[in-house]
Amino acid sequence: MKTDRAPVGIRRGDTVKVMVGRSKGLTGKVLAVYPESGRVTVEHANIIKRHTRPNPAKNIRGGIVDKEGPMDISNVMLVCPSCGKHTRAGHTTLPDGTKVRTCRRCNATFEH
Ligand SMILES: [Zn+2]
Repeated sequence: MKTDRAPVGIRRGDTVKVMVGRSKGLTGKVLAVYPESGRVTVEHANIIKRHTRPNPAKNIRGGIVDKEGPMDISNVMLVCPSCGKHTRAGHTTLPDGTKVRTCRRCNATFEH
């Protein structure tokens, strides 16, 4: 098994399942990917309390706001929109040279 690169292939907008940690078992959309730190934020997962100061100019009320916190990208797995199972992305190059990600279970193509 190749371990020199992390072939996670997870992008913003993907649906992923959280495999470990506090939000284990939860499925949600990827809100952001931080490749430099290897972290992602997932909708409704790893909620943290953020204390904000009121800023009337921006119409922000002070208080405690629930917000998704980043988690390690290896803690989540892609969920295939076609077969509905968590999977790893394979990569295929189409005859026209476009690289696409595919489900390793059912070979469906991930579209965005
Ligand atoms: Zn699939």
